[in-house]
Amino acid sequence: MKAPHWIAGAWVGVPSADSIDPATGESIGQFADGGAAEADAAIAAARNVFDRTTWAQDARLRQDVLLAWAGALDAQREPLATLLTRENGKAIAQSRGEIAAAISEVRYYAGLARHIAGHVLESEPGTISTMLREAAGVAAIFVPWNAPAVLLVRSLAPALAAGCTAIVKSAAQTPLVIAAMLRCFEQTALPKGAVNLVHEIGYAAGERLVESHDVDIVSFTGSTATGKKIMAAAAESMKKLSLELGGKSCCVVFEDADVVAIAPRIARAATIISGQQCTAARRVLVHARRAAEMREHLTRALEALRVGEGINEAMDIGPLIDAATRDAVYQTIARACDEADRVLLRGTRSGHAFLSPTLIEHSDPKAFFCQEEIFGPFVTLETFDTEAQAIDRANDTVFGLSASVWTNDGARAFRIARALRNGTVWINDHNKLFAEAETGGYRQSGLGRLHGYDALADFTEIKHICMPAGVAEGIAPLR
Ligand code: NAD
Repeated sequence: MKAPHWIAGAWVGVPSADSIDPATGESIGQFADGGAAEADAAIAAARNVFDRTTWAQDARLRQDVLLAWAGALDAQREPLATLLTRENGKAIAQSRGEIAAAISEVRYYAGLARHIAGHVLESEPGTISTMLREAAGVAAIFVPWNAPAVLLVRSLAPALAAGCTAIVKSAAQTPLVIAAMLRCFEQTALPKGAVNLVHEIGYAAGERLVESHDVDIVSFTGSTATGKKIMAAAAESMKKLSLELGGKSCCVVFEDADVVAIAPRIARAATIISGQQCTAARRVLVHARRAAEMREHLTRALEALRVGEGINEAMDIGPLIDAATRDAVYQTIARACDEADRVLLRGTRSGHAFLSPTLIEHSDPKAFFCQEEIFGPFVTLETFDTEAQAIDRANDTVFGLSASVWTNDGARAFRIARALRNGTVWINDHNKLFAEAETGGYRQSGLGRLHGYDALADFTEIKHICMPAGVAEGIAPLR
């Protein structure tokens, strides 16, 4: 498969860089390696459609385009899922779930495209203030490699529904699946240049998109470190920013929870996409009286997960995204094992980029491995005695993306959920994300929200149009 850039409706550039299957280390296709020039051309194309056509005003056209895109993606469900597993490595069941979620989300925003309501009021007698929600303009969308299908849609669908035009920047690890999804637009009435795609191995195109004064909004999903750089680089043009960044999610397990039943669920929540999901369960905080049981059952559940090629239906955990990343994550985990109070399960490397899960137990929440996001199959087990301790430990982090509370006491579940400083808190569940429900981070996990109506609102500006219409003849002003 070949993935050129897609600029102003034309597939351009020579696909010369390899996209590698992380399960085998073999090339599965080539993509074009762009830079600032491609970014400039894509910005010009997106700008032209936004400034010179009625795209931003034609909600029905945008709905039609999104529905047709969803239909075209639906017709490609299985090939897209297979390509996603080949390019990213994740278990095929996870790829199928991701493609299905992406299609559903396109349809959700197709509906919302026709409900972008502002409000009108009389600000003083005879003066009509119309607050119009308008598209923010040209959006640059950075899609990471860990869940490229759904994270593309999570930003692009609300951007298009709102009336923005877009430049998508793929991650160098997953350019083919992004290109395959955007090719499905060719079966729709999308104006040429309303969506553009630029690939690159380096950062020059990405940096140009962030700096450009012709880009009005950046929607970035990636690490907190890169998010900070983007925030600094965007300051000069003061563009709008949507940042979906890293996390260190806690599962807080109370004394009354059924540890035997939930340990396998937490094991899966920790190892989804080989632990390469921003919301993956990373720290398990368990009441001290249930610690022994959790130790035993979580170890057993993690050990039972099958590690192997994601394309094999029997596997639970595929490879990490590439061999170099696997080795770097392994070294970090090895350091954590050296410092941990206790190593309950030590992960091992195999094949091109595989790594089995590690579970350690530790008492000091300040340890680097309790604080830093380690993007792989690595879990810490910590204990607490009181609700207050559980909350303090869980909130002792710079992140605030997501957490879960495990208890059969409904009132406790709710009050702990309120006390945890996170954008999402699940009760007796983990990693459930919906097109309808806003998601995003407190603190260094990000800015703004994606999913839900608020994501669409984040791709708009509010314009106040003030009209002094005056009062009708025969009506007397009182002041
Ligand atoms: P990353 O930050 O290393 O890279 C993301 C993208 O940014 C890449 O495509 C890269 O080309 C680009 N980039 C790097 N430097 C840049 C710069 N200076 N200017 C412009 N672009 C630049 O992240 P990653 O390793 O691809 O993804 C993993 C991270 O993403 C994890 O931290 C994970 O938690 C986070 N993530 C967050 C969410 C969420 O919803 N909050 C979802 C998925 C992933």
